[in-house]
Parts: sequence; structure tokens; C-alpha cells
Amino acid sequence: MTALLELTAIRAAYDAITVLHGVDLSVRAGEVVALLGPNGAGKTTTLKVAAGVHPIADGELRLGGRTVNGADPRDLARAGVCLIPEGRGIFPNLTVRDNLLMMSFTGRPVAEIEDIAFARFPILAQRAGQTAGTLSGGEQQMLALARGLVTDPAVLLLDELSMGLAPLVVGRLYEQVAEIARQGVAVLIVEQFAAAVLDIADTAAVLVRGRIEHQGPPDLGLRNQLATLYLGSP
Ligand code: ATP
Repeated sequence: MTALLELTAIRAAYDAITVLHGVDLSVRAGEVVALLGPNGAGKTTTLKVAAGVHPIADGELRLGGRTVNGADPRDLARAGVCLIPEGRGIFPNLTVRDNLLMMSFTGRPVAEIEDIAFARFPILAQRAGQTAGTLSGGEQQMLALARGLVTDPAVLLLDELSMGLAPLVVGRLYEQVAEIARQGVAVLIVEQFAAAVLDIADTAAVLVRGRIEHQGPPDLGLRNQLATLYLGSP
């Protein structure tokens, strides 16, 4: 199957400083690709390029086989690209319900929005009247994912979903991410630490100083490479 999201020889910079030096990455529908690497490697920048919110200095971004370099990020969002940023992008002073209702810009009826969110994350129904900032970290991440799902994404870009969460909570969230992928979504997930994400990833890519140094199935070989490279024990 051809890739839904394809980055080919992507170079990206902040002013004169190049931070991505020719990144090749592709994600097929139904696949989970983990993009790993140390601090400052360029992982977040890669996601921003994929979402069209950071300009491409060189190379090609394709969505469903179509070149979309320079496309308006809103058009990419309409075409199914959904970025869930680090820090989750939810509104902490609004209730869970209002955070979800804001997604009615998608044209979906309110009842449908709640159905989608609460079916995937039943705990959010119990928390509907609570302000999002008072949710646990894991619940906040569920809310962020739920808001993303309401957009009916074809490509889900997740930035450090595990940040600040207990391993058990991360494992449960990853199970949901794997299930979302099984329903045909292409998932590109950035993490600094490899451990749990390798359990759901079909492919892992290691980004170091703006270059993909390793790419392949998350087998023992890759885990060993990661262990000896940058990320501590996998
Ligand atoms: P982290 O895990 O620490 O977020 P990362 O792998 O996601 O790291 P990026 O956030 O993509 O890395 O950053 C890559 C490089 O680009 C870093 O050297 C960073 O300092 C730099 N950078 C990121 N954002 C900006 C910005 N807005 N202006 C200038 N430089 C930036």
C-alpha cells in the first residue's frame, strides 16, 4: 500500500539555522510510526512540517500521493491531518464538554461529537462538567485525542503523548492509539524515550541532529541500537 504521509528529503530551518537535514519518513494508513530521538533532534519540527505549520526549505511533503508543499495548514487539516501538540492543546479553563463542543466547527452535531469522544474514552463522560485543567494528565491527553478524533483524521501526528504520565497510563493511551491506527488512521508519534511506544509501533525511526540515523521494525536490533545510542535503556 502506498504511504498516506510522505516526507522526502525534507530540509527545514529556523532563520539561518537548518534543523532538518533531509528527512525521509513515510506512514501508511493503519500504521504506527514512532519517531524517536534526543532533545532538540528536530522531532517536533518534523511534525510541524507534516502539519504544514513550519515551512519546507527543501524536499517534498506528500499527502495521499499529492504534493502539498506550502499548503495552508487549514487545508491540510481539512484533508485529514491532525496535530496534537506537546502540552495537548486543550483549554484548561473550559469544561470537558465545552472543549468538545468547540469541535462543532467541524460541522458535526454536538451529540455525535460527544458520542465519538465518550465511546473511545468513557471516563470523559464522567468528567464532562469538570474544567479540563483539573483532569489528571492522562485524562487531559484523552481529551486532546478525543478532540482530534472528532476531526475524523486520516493522519494523526502526536507529540510526546507520554510526557509527565505514569507508565501504566501511557500504556493505556498507547492501546487506544493502536486501536485508532487499526481503524485505518496513519499515526506518526514522537517520543523522546522509546520504551512503551515500541510496543505499538510498526516502524521506528531515530532522528539525531536532524537526520534519520536508523529506521525499521522495532525489533531487538533496533532496541539495542537505541540502548547504545541516545535514549538509555529501551
Ligand atoms: P524536544 O524533544 O526537546 O522538543 P525536538 O526533537 O522536538 O526536541 P525541535 O523542537 O524540533 O526538537 O527542535 C529542533 C531544533 O530547532 C532545536 O535545536 C531547537 O532549539 C530549534 N528550534 C525549535 N523551535 C525553534 C524556534 N521557534 N526558533 C528557533 N529555533 C528553534
